[in-house]
Amino acid sequence: MSSEKQRVCRKCLLREMKEDDYFKTMREYIQGLPEEDKVTDEVYEQRLKFCKECENLLNGMCRICGCFVEMRAAMKVKSCPGVEKYWERDIV
Ligand code: SF4
Repeated sequence: MSSEKQRVCRKCLLREMKEDDYFKTMREYIQGLPEEDKVTDEVYEQRLKFCKECENLLNGMCRICGCFVEMRAAMKVKSCPGVEKYWERDIV
């Protein structure tokens, strides 16, 4: 059995990647964020709950900013870009 991990190209456009690979890359990016830059799990889930019910969510992306909401919601410095400001920055 090979212990070699399959590597994901870090310089590929999403369209050049297999669907599984870019979701994996996004998860790895979120996991790799410094802990001090990330919101708590509780805040993360609260933010995503708003996104799930928002009319601006389309295929995992926010139509206002173009971000993948799972990535944006993980970062303390980010806020909801919508007019309604469903969630705010989380800097203490
Ligand atoms: S407008 Fe705000 S709540 Fe709606 S999808 Fe974008 S980030 Fe999420």
